[in-house]
Amino acid sequence: MSPITPPLAGKLDGLHSSAIRDLLKLTARAEVVSLAGGLPDAALMPRERMAAAADAALSHHGCLQYTESPGWGPLREVLAQRESEGLGRSVGLAEVFVTHGSQQALALLAEVLLDPGALVVVEDPAYVGALQAFRAAGARIVGVPLDAEGMRTEALMTLLAEGERPAVVHTVSNFHNPGGVTMSPRRRAELARLAEEYGFWVIEDDPYGELWFDNPAPAPVASRAHNVIRLSSASKILSPSLRVGWMVAPEPVCRAVELLKQGADLCGSALTQQIAAELLADTEWLTGHIDQVRGVYGARAKALTHATRSRFGDRVRCSDAAGGMFVWVDFLDGTDTDRLLPQALAAGVAYVPGSAFAVDGGYRSAMRMCFTTADAPTLELAIDRLAHALG
Ligand code: PMP
Repeated sequence: MSPITPPLAGKLDGLHSSAIRDLLKLTARAEVVSLAGGLPDAALMPRERMAAAADAALSHHGCLQYTESPGWGPLREVLAQRESEGLGRSVGLAEVFVTHGSQQALALLAEVLLDPGALVVVEDPAYVGALQAFRAAGARIVGVPLDAEGMRTEALMTLLAEGERPAVVHTVSNFHNPGGVTMSPRRRAELARLAEEYGFWVIEDDPYGELWFDNPAPAPVASRAHNVIRLSSASKILSPSLRVGWMVAPEPVCRAVELLKQGADLCGSALTQQIAAELLADTEWLTGHIDQVRGVYGARAKALTHATRSRFGDRVRCSDAAGGMFVWVDFLDGTDTDRLLPQALAAGVAYVPGSAFAVDGGYRSAMRMCFTTADAPTLELAIDRLAHALG
């Protein structure tokens, strides 16, 4: 008798592997300058400071134990303090929830806030990890385009006027991944007003807000409305290996997320949460550290945008890279970036084609480039190679 293979759950049918994660496998060749990965620079991560904090944590047994599902208490206290400053109000401990990176917050929130078929509005081009989390929860996803002021809230208003009722609107308000843009204060106020008027949740996904180069990011959407769940992360300011992200959300949301987290992984790592708590609490050190990261990334961002603009001129429109990790380039001459990729790899440069971020197709003439992991001369070399591939 031939064995019967048991099936996987039907909800996996619409899911596919992230094109970017697949692409990263191709770009791992040493001779390729990869602007494709969205990785922070490991050389800037505070390894020694983390080792000292790990040593301190390991000097007692507490960090070896399970911790509470919402996160290690002293870390939540540090986060409540930080978020109170950022949001301009007193954030209570019950509103702070630590997750395994902010990606886990997206996955858990998708389960907590969405019934199958519920509508989620995302920015288009979109953060691929959010698309994956919302798709896995069976959501219907609609994209709203970005421009230089971030999410085009008038397009969201049109959807609402047509009778669409989103359960969630997801925004990467600062230094967008992949679009590179920041939502203007006017659009933030508009989104906050719509969230309260129509009663939808906003997930303000903000791992990049502190990585500004010349001017700090505007006040968060979460400081303007009650329906906003704010996600932040230690990944880009300290290290993604900590897997420490956090959210600030109304208490009932945190309690619901707690129920699901118990089923997902019981709790995060007490060890890495203690390391994160020590580093985030040391504000004097942290300010200096983040300043250094800003300085290095800012110089690289300027090198990449300058090389792109001077090499391609009117052929491209390139985001300003005022912070974060990414530059978004539109080829106005219709260059097909999917078709260009094999030639670019042969010339020794990798990027992510815009189509990888499209909600419903499109962005075939765009690309995302990450400037964090190469120095200025290497970024210039990458643009030379791209020009060579373009012929
Ligand atoms: N949100 C956005 C917009 C991101 O770009 C990322 C990382 N690429 C995440 C969330 C998840 O980051 P982490 O889980 O490391 O906190």
